[in-house]
Amino acid sequence: MKYISTRQQQATNIKTAILKGLADDGGLFMPEYIPQLDSEFFENLPNLTLQEIGFRVAKEFLGESISDDNLKEIIDEVLNFEIPAVKISENIYSLELFHGPTMAFKDVGARFMARMMSYFSEGKPMKVIAATSGDTGSAVASGFFGVPGIEVYILYPKGKVSPLQEKQLTTWGGNIKALEIHGTFDDCQALAKQILSDEELNQKFTLTSANSINIARLIPQSFYYFWAFAQLQKLKKPIVFSVPSGNFGNLTAGLFAKKMGLPIHHFVASTNENDVVPKFLETGNYESKPSKQTISNAMDVGNPSNFERMKSLFNNDVSEFKKEIKSYSFSDEATKKAMQEVKKDFNYTLDPHGAVAYLGLQALRQAQSDKINEDFVGVLLETAHPAKFVEVVEDVLKEQIEIPEKLEAFNKREKKSVEFPVDFEAVKNYLIEEK
Ligand SMILES: *Cc1c(COP(=O)(O)O)cnc(C)c1O
Repeated sequence: MKYISTRQQQATNIKTAILKGLADDGGLFMPEYIPQLDSEFFENLPNLTLQEIGFRVAKEFLGESISDDNLKEIIDEVLNFEIPAVKISENIYSLELFHGPTMAFKDVGARFMARMMSYFSEGKPMKVIAATSGDTGSAVASGFFGVPGIEVYILYPKGKVSPLQEKQLTTWGGNIKALEIHGTFDDCQALAKQILSDEELNQKFTLTSANSINIARLIPQSFYYFWAFAQLQKLKKPIVFSVPSGNFGNLTAGLFAKKMGLPIHHFVASTNENDVVPKFLETGNYESKPSKQTISNAMDVGNPSNFERMKSLFNNDVSEFKKEIKSYSFSDEATKKAMQEVKKDFNYTLDPHGAVAYLGLQALRQAQSDKINEDFVGVLLETAHPAKFVEVVEDVLKEQIEIPEKLEAFNKREKKSVEFPVDFEAVKNYLIEEK
């Protein structure tokens, strides 16, 4: 399987695609075609474990670049926590993606990417650059912590992540460095792109990206769509996924799963007030905007990086997008109300991101148009444990929530970060002087 840049000027193998992250022409790597799984796989799906599904799906993308034994070992390590589809109400399930070490869904992608990079880098020293709006950084840090030869630089927007998220970014030490940027997430993402494409830095170091632009983050995110089906197929109803979206990596991985043959009925791309994609589906025009700060801050993205991948999946055709995806944007007020409603009616605690996804399912049910509106099972992807956003959740629900020990441990450690203005030269000098 070849991997091709969305800007069409570079084709390479999976190893290079993963080690580079971003293509030389500035595009994102995509598999040259989406592999198909056979009918036997789908018939047998309800009997497979999460790890077996992960292996089968990953194998399709990785081919002979890694031995079956090595891949199995990596998959078993990555997926060493549960991903249950928890029933909220008759027709709504929460796919809890947050049972990993940092309690956000990004653990899945980051753990897989870290192991694939370490495998393919064959022990050569490497610098990994990650811009984060909160959860990516900690999942990446956790995934790479202590991996020999790999230094990780995390760029995060000062004052725009929750106190616990900040602790999860800044308390690792060792091979993990936290760069606190006086700017927005978009500034961090732009700086990361500049670093990765800087000629001088690329001559000095082997640089790579750990953002959702890396194809190694996307591949494992498709596993759990299959896994949700394995759990819910017995309901014998069409299944709709509502994906709380920021950079649209999670949704893109769902599109991969569908193109591989998984009969997903429809997708809802649910966003907060950062509504570039809902607007695009409404008007046909893609206009990036500065990101707005919201209570679902991991989705505060004004220029979603995976839009380029979705465009290539849909051959740049808005009507193709519309066939698969409905997209809605929700205010913080609506999000808070949804959290209260779900708590009151179903005694289930949603984090703000999951609440946005819940609203997406409600909106789809209310939509009068077309035939999607038949009886379906809605699966919202619950992307973070509510305790990761304890301030917001407690304020909204007016009750204390329990902080799992895994998270409490971070609170006890000491923050260490280096502050920077939004100034590429300053960050560049730091990287050079650092080693
Ligand atoms: C990153 C993140 C999202 C958005 O995922 P994308 O793949 O960037 O669309 C949603 N919820 C949480 C909790 C996240 O950390």
